[in-house]
Amino acid sequence: MKDLTRLTLAEAREGLAAKSFSAVELTQSFLDAMEKAKSLNAFIVETPEKALAQAGDSDARIARGEARPLEGIPLGIKDLYATEGVQTTAGSHILEGFIPPYESTVTSHLWRDGATMLGKLNLDEFAMGSSNETSYFGPVVSPWRRKGADGEISDAKLVPGGSSGGSAAAVAARLCLGATATDTGGSIRQPAAFTGTVGMKPTYGRCSRWGVVAFASSLDQAGPIAKTVRDAAILMRSMAGHDPKDTTSVDAPVPDYETSIGASIKGKVIGIPREYRLDGMSPEISALWEQGVAWLRAAGAEIRDISLPHTKHALPAYYIVAPAEASSNLARYDGVRYGLRKTGKDISDLYEKTRAAGFGKEVRRRIMIGTYVLSAGYYDAYYLRAQKIRSLIKRDFDLAYAAGVDAILTPATPSPAFALGEKGSADPVEMYLNDVFTVTVNMAGLPGLAVPAGLSSDGLPLGLQLIGRPFEEETLFALGQVIEDAAPKIGLPESWWG
Ligand code: GLN
Repeated sequence: MKDLTRLTLAEAREGLAAKSFSAVELTQSFLDAMEKAKSLNAFIVETPEKALAQAGDSDARIARGEARPLEGIPLGIKDLYATEGVQTTAGSHILEGFIPPYESTVTSHLWRDGATMLGKLNLDEFAMGSSNETSYFGPVVSPWRRKGADGEISDAKLVPGGSSGGSAAAVAARLCLGATATDTGGSIRQPAAFTGTVGMKPTYGRCSRWGVVAFASSLDQAGPIAKTVRDAAILMRSMAGHDPKDTTSVDAPVPDYETSIGASIKGKVIGIPREYRLDGMSPEISALWEQGVAWLRAAGAEIRDISLPHTKHALPAYYIVAPAEASSNLARYDGVRYGLRKTGKDISDLYEKTRAAGFGKEVRRRIMIGTYVLSAGYYDAYYLRAQKIRSLIKRDFDLAYAAGVDAILTPATPSPAFALGEKGSADPVEMYLNDVFTVTVNMAGLPGLAVPAGLSSDGLPLGLQLIGRPFEEETLFALGQVIEDAAPKIGLPESWWG
């Protein structure tokens, strides 16, 4: 039989419906692939028994003609989503051994629609990071390798991006048909760009955050990482939807996003923000961006230069707002309610010992920054100013959209993937700079789609980002499909892992 792991989600759905293979066979192919790809460290927990049981139920439903939208589709779940009865760690020692008695709303939607869970995917600790090197369970390794000028494949291990590094690596390495991810400042789009996969960060409020471990609640959004734009649209339809348990979740109907695939983009106005043309931008990233403009223009879009004047303040403001919210959200991990507990001579000592032992370096740094910027003497100088900047960033986008712009095209990342250990060890800001094109979208609560668009000179994936109007993800899917169709096919040509 053909290697089923090479199918897209949409193709697998067709194959299951046509009974070309069973859901159990499909799931088993992915379980076998996971077994061979342990070196990537993409999964924290694998759930083969659960997957096969769910697949068995799917086969019974298919036989009865009762297939649901994701019937028998094997997925990986970022280990930030609470899964009932299955360990949920957020990549942290402090939650090791935590077995939630409840299911996140987004994952419950996926099971409602018939999907199968292969396991929990590795991530940066509490989703803080851009390289998936901060996980307590070790870094995720990208399935990609650099190619030298002589065509020689380098042995250097590359990062898959972060924080949804396990999700991106697993989809790219064909260990699942799609994955859940989350994005607070770029964690869906940046790893998607690094691994040649598609990542959709929906509008704030589109997907419920209930049962997703909180990092920065006003920025966090759930979304999919998938092989293709169509697959991302299929997953989004199931993941999205109103949830009374999340007061920021929007009560609006969920469109059938898949109908946007192949829709005409004629007359769509695409803004090209001049502030994203950074000093020292690599020629290869500029060229990719130009290429994206040319593809959209050729498909009938109108290209317009625009200005988003407050862009340069977005990254510093993000790195105040996100740690501030994180320091408050992470106060709940005290050794009493969840996971790890270190004994102490009194309750304060127990808190301190547990938190010191349970949180990694990056998380401790964020808690300290967050506590500092919220403290009485510094609140006005840092937190309040960052919030004001946030309003200005949002206004920049509002004005562009009010002037008729339908979507904005930018690069997804300032560089292709880098080597493990290459960035951020001496200066964390070096790592934070990876998010320069993505954080504005979270600050403004907008949807953003990362689509693979080409390869770097050393053979690594590069992505473009499309930023949309609030709740107009459909436009992004239509535009993303145009880029996907025009771009050279960059699927991993062979197995460089396992
Ligand atoms: N890299 C960013 C950070 O470290 C964004 C992370 C995310 O989107 N979860 O905060």
